[in-house]
Amino acid sequence: MISALMPNFSRADIAFAHGQGAWLFDAHGRRYLDFGAGIATSSLGHGHPHLVKAIAEQAAKVIHVSNLYRVPQAETLAARLVAASFADSVFFCNSGAEANEGLVKAMRKAQSDSGHPERTRIICFEGAFHGRTLAMISATGNPKYLAGFGKPVEGFDHVPFNNLNALRAAITAETAGILVEPIQGEGGIRAADEEFLRGLRAARDEFGLFLGFDEVQTGMGRTGKLFAYQWSDVEPDIMSLAKGIGGGFPMAALLAKEHVARALVPGSHGTTFGGGPLACAAGNAVLDVILADGFLDQMNEIAAYLHAGLKQLVARHGGVFTDVRGKGLLLGLKCAVPNSDAQNEALRQGLLTVAAGENVLRLLPPLVITRADCDEALAMLDKTAQALTMEAAK
Ligand SMILES: *Cc1c(COP(=O)(O)O)cnc(C)c1O
Repeated sequence: MISALMPNFSRADIAFAHGQGAWLFDAHGRRYLDFGAGIATSSLGHGHPHLVKAIAEQAAKVIHVSNLYRVPQAETLAARLVAASFADSVFFCNSGAEANEGLVKAMRKAQSDSGHPERTRIICFEGAFHGRTLAMISATGNPKYLAGFGKPVEGFDHVPFNNLNALRAAITAETAGILVEPIQGEGGIRAADEEFLRGLRAARDEFGLFLGFDEVQTGMGRTGKLFAYQWSDVEPDIMSLAKGIGGGFPMAALLAKEHVARALVPGSHGTTFGGGPLACAAGNAVLDVILADGFLDQMNEIAAYLHAGLKQLVARHGGVFTDVRGKGLLLGLKCAVPNSDAQNEALRQGLLTVAAGENVLRLLPPLVITRADCDEALAMLDKTAQALTMEAAK
């Protein structure tokens, strides 16, 4: 008989009872080092006092009011995100997929409003991940996610990642914009080349397109800057955020320049839960921590330390791990064994990780990890590699 909880995930047989910092504890008291952070989401780790207090205090005051009224917590958070980014305006919603839906709608509507209703198509990239709604599995384009759900939603074209010639060849009179992850997360921690991003921006300028960045995974400090696009000199017109923005509280945001944002006039787009007082209290608390003086500098130091340790791991265990990818604390180990084997063995050692495309094992610790946490993770990965080497020798 089917489980009461729909069987659409294959879950490890562990349930966590509580957490502290980068650690999670099951009901038997066994502890796990959380280098998955709920898929790059628990950015402040577990039980962060500032986040816990902000959520508890707001919950006691008022949890939900709807967008029929002003929400001061949302106004504050939007102003802070605008001040810290390329954007002029912010729309809050609840998930990465929903933010990307809004991104695509805003691009299409802004094209239509400027006299180009025929420009409805979005160019996306092979290896991308944009979410699980009907439109976003079409934007993602992965046949595995599309199978069984009928004809893909119209309006998405796919070209190889980091290939400007293919991108330019795919632009037609119906192209509204381009949607790209600065670093593909689910796709296997594959970074867009600086040259490629510049080329996207040039194509945007030349053909009157909008450039959209999906920073659902890369944003909110994950790569060592608040947003991954800030490592380059290329700014988007519009950008989606989710995962880490609420420190684990469900929340997402769409940030845009005025020329795109103004297309979403009253009645054109909406959400019941988005931008509520509780989510925005969480978002503000997360920003307090990430934007605090020196926070990202310290995180980058620890990330460099971890990165160096992973390089040594690869040097010692080339038969298991062949390469380190990524930036900041968005890291991937390219595996020579099936990444699911590495993930399962790491779990046995007490380390939580996340598999990704291209046979990569993702390491996405909370942004608040310490050097001591890194040392423990590296030791567990070393044991993981040893166990997998022995397994292979059998
Ligand atoms: C996780 C993810 C999404 C989807 O976010 P959900 O909150 O699961 O809808 C979209 N884009 C990227 C880059 C992601 O990593």
